[in-house]
Amino acid sequence: MRILITGGAGFLGSHLCDRLLADGHSVIAMDNLITGSTRNIQHLMGREDFRFIKHNVYEYIYIDGPIDAVLNFASPASPSKTAPTGYLQLPIQTMKVGAIGTLNALGVARAKNARFLLASTSEVYGDPLEHPQKETYWGHVDPNGVRSVYDEAKRFAEALTMAYHRTHGVDTRIVRIFNTYGPRMELGDGRVVPNFVGQALRGEPLTVYGDGAQTRSFCYCSDLIDGIVKLLYSNEHDPVNIGNPNELSIKEFAETINRVTGNPGGIQYVADGRTQGDPQQRRPDISRAKTILGWEPKVGLEEGLRETIAYFRTVVPA
Ligand code: UDP
Repeated sequence: MRILITGGAGFLGSHLCDRLLADGHSVIAMDNLITGSTRNIQHLMGREDFRFIKHNVYEYIYIDGPIDAVLNFASPASPSKTAPTGYLQLPIQTMKVGAIGTLNALGVARAKNARFLLASTSEVYGDPLEHPQKETYWGHVDPNGVRSVYDEAKRFAEALTMAYHRTHGVDTRIVRIFNTYGPRMELGDGRVVPNFVGQALRGEPLTVYGDGAQTRSFCYCSDLIDGIVKLLYSNEHDPVNIGNPNELSIKEFAETINRVTGNPGGIQYVADGRTQGDPQQRRPDISRAKTILGWEPKVGLEEGLRETIAYFRTVVPA
């Protein structure tokens, strides 16, 4: 297949480029480099089966020649209150990329008769009242809170994807991605994994926001990419959760990182650190992915963290 990946220079987009090239496809990565980086794809530059186009997907997308699949991964994704690449600092761009960017990408898929895969998110469940979250749960989202620029853009993108499927028969897929970590996460994007690993490698205390009782379930990137590619190759049109159901509190997560890195810095509780609407608990129910795709994660937290820490050692200034 000849595959277009929007957000192709980002954390997940670049891992998808690697995996789909390894599967024998040719890949066009499109990115405006606001949150992505050419560092993530520089090892692919110059390959005959790979092309990078610097473009803002909320401007009209023009691609020459056939396209067999469009993977829509462009978006800021960090809820950090302070990081310049977080969606709270890019609220209107985040809504434009989720809405108009998705519209443009669906337009390419329709025009080229290509399959389409939307990167959706566990954020469509908001601060969930159902636990763990199944795909049938409609979510608990504040429609105008600060996180709404991301949550509602992704919910709109899901609605638009299904509208193109139902109206134009576009061959669509929707993956709901839960917290994922691994090499190529942006050190400064303010999310918990780069923050904690960066702090641990500098010997500093880890900044746990609030009391750290809020939970997340962290999936290693190779597992996530495997699930997404299985979905791409399947015929499933309804949303599928992909994530790791191993849930732990942010406090336990900080303790794990301090143990694995041997960081003597301990923990610093930041009472007002949490973003408004920060979900109190999050864990995917992955029964659908297991049944439909025969997928489940394989990489344990400590194993994945060791790979991630090794990567961050190469980017954290000594
Ligand atoms: N968090 C934290 N310390 C940090 C960064 C984040 O305690 O330095 C918490 C944050 O409040 C949230 C969880 O870690 O409860 C995960 O945050 P992240 O920004 O990674 O993304 P989210 O899962 O909320 O989209």
